Amino acid sequence: MLIAGEWCDAEDGATADILNPATGEVIAKTPKATIGDVEKCVLASRAALQSKDWAAMDPAQRGRILQKMAAATYANAKSLAALESSNNGKTFREALSEIRYGAWTLEYFAGLSDKIEGSTIPVPGNRLNYTLRQPLGVTAHIVPWNFPLQLAIRSIAPALAAGCTVIAKPASWTPLSLIAWAKAMQDSEVGLPADVLQVITGSGGLIGDALAGHAGVDGVVLTGGVPTGQAVMAKASENLTPVTLELGGKGANIVFSDANLRHCAKAICFGIFMNAGQMCWAGSRLIVHEDVHDELVDAVVAEVSKWPVGPGMEEGVRMGSMVHTSHRDDVLNMLSKGLEQGGEVVCGGNALDREGAFMEATVVTGVSSDNLLFQEELFGPVLAVTKFSEDAEALALANDTPFGLLNGIWTNNLSRAHRFARDVESGMVSINEYPITFPQTAFTGWKKSGIGIEQSKDALNFYTKVKNVNVKL
Ligand code: NAD
Repeated sequence: MLIAGEWCDAEDGATADILNPATGEVIAKTPKATIGDVEKCVLASRAALQSKDWAAMDPAQRGRILQKMAAATYANAKSLAALESSNNGKTFREALSEIRYGAWTLEYFAGLSDKIEGSTIPVPGNRLNYTLRQPLGVTAHIVPWNFPLQLAIRSIAPALAAGCTVIAKPASWTPLSLIAWAKAMQDSEVGLPADVLQVITGSGGLIGDALAGHAGVDGVVLTGGVPTGQAVMAKASENLTPVTLELGGKGANIVFSDANLRHCAKAICFGIFMNAGQMCWAGSRLIVHEDVHDELVDAVVAEVSKWPVGPGMEEGVRMGSMVHTSHRDDVLNMLSKGLEQGGEVVCGGNALDREGAFMEATVVTGVSSDNLLFQEELFGPVLAVTKFSEDAEALALANDTPFGLLNGIWTNNLSRAHRFARDVESGMVSINEYPITFPQTAFTGWKKSGIGIEQSKDALNFYTKVKNVNVKL
């Protein structure tokens, strides 16, 4: 862990075994922090904030440091991706593109560091009235295991750009890439003042919980599941600490009969089999017009044959291992419970008959909207297919889940596309492409998919506090 300027063990020396899920091998041991370690971390972060070396630095200079962090991330991308692949199970290619995306996010927020502006407000009388936007303070970043480094950088970059100090806690299964990245930032001498960035490892229930409820933490950012979001929000409410929560999803690709089916079959597979379906924004539902249902299902099944499953570091593999055999088994259990409620497996449906957390790419047709395969986030490579006949029915189906993260619309009818984009209940919508995001566009969920905005200029609002200043002239 990187706490108070030192690479250190847990206070009591306890460690956790870190596995390669494709082999079951222990590849590292990481510290299991204690509450005492959290205290040390928060104290150091507050001291770094109060020293003003970072918060009051010329913001253009902060931007230059973020640029150096981006360059160092690009320079180390291959080794970080290899580590990510061996700890998370995903393919090297996916890991590499995610880490480069992280570097791009740093570049984007580097450019915004000196563009965080207040405003002047016309008020009556002989007065000047204006706002300042000041750093929120110490921010805790609780990171999930599915995109371990990229999602950490996604919130660290705007926090640093705004002048906050950062405590990052990776998920218990996948801490290695974040630790290695923090080390690479140090080794590359990017110029971050001491203790502006710290990394603490350990269980969510203990360390995540302690950070969320700590009076010395000014903001908590969690990417994780809904129950974790609820626990973090409850804990943060004890000190009225603001939270950003990026939670689960149940994305749909809604395909109309005039869509380009070959193109959309590819995107549908990408949207559910990338990262073995372990994605908040996975397109886990396919809602397709009855006239093209059979043709599209055939095209999707044909496309699945281009997704060989195997160890993420192996050449030619497109779908890597899942993060852990226990998670793979949970997904298989949910699949079999869903199938008791209806649906027909037209491809996949099983674990691979080999060592490691592997599962076949799975497509289930005839899934009704009350089936758990339609309603619940499985977080695995399972596509649920549902037919519709009328536009209104498609919209009602798309909105019939507790989540609202990303939905895709496939049509060449311009008015229908925009009508759906307006009416669908999700923070993000993509037309004729899936899934897609950029550092400069908002990543945001409605309903149970979360609270707040990641990426884009809007992300900076969370990391700054507004102060209104009135001057009698
Ligand atoms: P998780 O909720 O189990 O864990 C996320 C993080 O929270 C981990 O670091 C964990 O240690 C910590 N944590 C667990 N319990 C905690 C508690 N009581 N208090 C504080 N911290 C705690 O999620 P996961 O299994 O790592 O990731 C999968 C979930 O994340 C899925 O639901 C997925 O949809 C969601 N996710 C959302 C987005 C998004 O941007 N919306 C992106 C990726 C993943």
